[in-house]
Amino acid sequence: MNNRDIADLLFPNLALTEGEVFAKYPQRNLDKSQIVTRFAPSPTGYMHIGNFFQAFISYNLAKNSNGVFFLRIEDTDKKREVADAKKVLYNVLNRMGIEFDEYQTLDGQDVGNYGPYVQSERNHLYHVFAHKLVSEGRAFPCFCKKTEGKEDVLKLRENKFAENDEREYDPCRNLSYEEVKKHIKNGDPFAIRLKTKNEGTERVKFNDLIKGDLEAKANAKDFIILKSDGTPPYPFAHAVDDTLMGTTIVVRGEEYISSTPAHVELFEALGFKQIQYCHNPLIYKLNEQGNRRKISKRYDPEANMMYFFENGYPTDALCEYLLNMINSGFEIWRKNNPDTDWRQFKFNANEITTVAPIFDLVKLNDISKNIISKMEGKTLYQNWLTWAEEYDAPLAERLKGEEEKFVKACQMDRDGAVKPRKDIYNYKMMKENFAYLFERPTEYQLNSEDKENANEFLKEYSKTFKMPASNEDWFAGVKEIAEKLGYAADNKLYKANPDAYKGNTAKACEFIRLAITGTKNSPTLFTIMSILGEEETKARLAKQF
Ligand code: GLU
Repeated sequence: MNNRDIADLLFPNLALTEGEVFAKYPQRNLDKSQIVTRFAPSPTGYMHIGNFFQAFISYNLAKNSNGVFFLRIEDTDKKREVADAKKVLYNVLNRMGIEFDEYQTLDGQDVGNYGPYVQSERNHLYHVFAHKLVSEGRAFPCFCKKTEGKEDVLKLRENKFAENDEREYDPCRNLSYEEVKKHIKNGDPFAIRLKTKNEGTERVKFNDLIKGDLEAKANAKDFIILKSDGTPPYPFAHAVDDTLMGTTIVVRGEEYISSTPAHVELFEALGFKQIQYCHNPLIYKLNEQGNRRKISKRYDPEANMMYFFENGYPTDALCEYLLNMINSGFEIWRKNNPDTDWRQFKFNANEITTVAPIFDLVKLNDISKNIISKMEGKTLYQNWLTWAEEYDAPLAERLKGEEEKFVKACQMDRDGAVKPRKDIYNYKMMKENFAYLFERPTEYQLNSEDKENANEFLKEYSKTFKMPASNEDWFAGVKEIAEKLGYAADNKLYKANPDAYKGNTAKACEFIRLAITGTKNSPTLFTIMSILGEEETKARLAKQF
């Protein structure tokens, strides 16, 4: 009896032979330059920005090479799975505009020829290759009670090998056919473990597109490739799936570098061509002391992709920010191509930063301000409304009811302006920003020493106020009254002799601004007045502090 017989005992009902599997998953008919990447999330019900970062890199590499980008749901760990997790995933990816060439729809339809695109539906494939490895003496069944733990392995190590021996051989690695048969007859559960060829002293080399040639201690552990429930842990699923599905570059987080030697041995044992890895750096944050730490679900709201939707960031802002993190060339490219879609920016895997990117909300806000400053009023209004419909229903009603007013507000000093206003970085802040358009101010940022002058000026100004025809008219009107009341008509005059005046025209404008908006800083007053209309403007100007 040989290993093949053991394999047949373990897998008596294989659906396919190895040859049939390869016939079902032929090599993709693509040029060498066309990259095939995938996003392979586990359905945990939460999308971390680091996961999205990976998806985004993979998407860009495939798209930029006219290649293929597919989605594979890695749901082999049923213990970690959460209801609706797939929905969360698809929702985030959709909103971010990430499109897949191949995937499984939410209702379980596979789109593409390399499916199923969900790992829990691929067990029959893993079994073919587990059978192959056992047949060839490169894997074996392990019947230890706690076979999924480490205790058994460690026990053997203590008993058999010297103190500093690196081998982690499993006690079941040399079971005979008869022994296996007895276990199977008893119905004993078993896992399948790789029978490592290494003895703990070897080194292994592998290449990483970002980090270059790497060398590490080779795997010397009989690790599990199929759990006792017949499902594969990550390494085996990765080797089988990425090979059959024709992935050409595996983009994954650099936390996987330490386990890559095990994956290299698996590829070799399976007779698969070693896959090209691209381990992307993880995203960090600076804490208050200025030390870096990984951005984390626990401490950082921005670690959750939902944060950006809830706060109403344009998705392009986040994409551009991530491109900045991926490749420092993006910033220069953006400067030289201020109006080009970011999708035109191309980078190669080996141009991805080796330095851990630090997430900085201020930087994201800057990028976002810029993007929003270029939106046409109508577009900004529409984006704001779409956001409000999801996160602030009463606001959405108000926006819909006064569309013309709010479109104009969104246009103020923004679209078409020579120096567009850059005060908005997300949709959530807009209500606060435009508070004076929703209701009359109730609080005023007035300096107490200005109270008397402000009241005097507003009294005079509101008395004869008529909606001016243009910004110039408006300013001329302010100037006239200001001069009459003892304000300097010209700033030079004022500067030369400030004590001779109550202030300059800017001060007079400040009083008007305060009466109308409650704040000292706002878009062009004339435009705000036109939005509010003569009656409302006049009523606000009648304010006495
Ligand atoms: N399911 C793995 C994860 O979410 C995939 C890693 C990979 O992309 O290979 O970490």
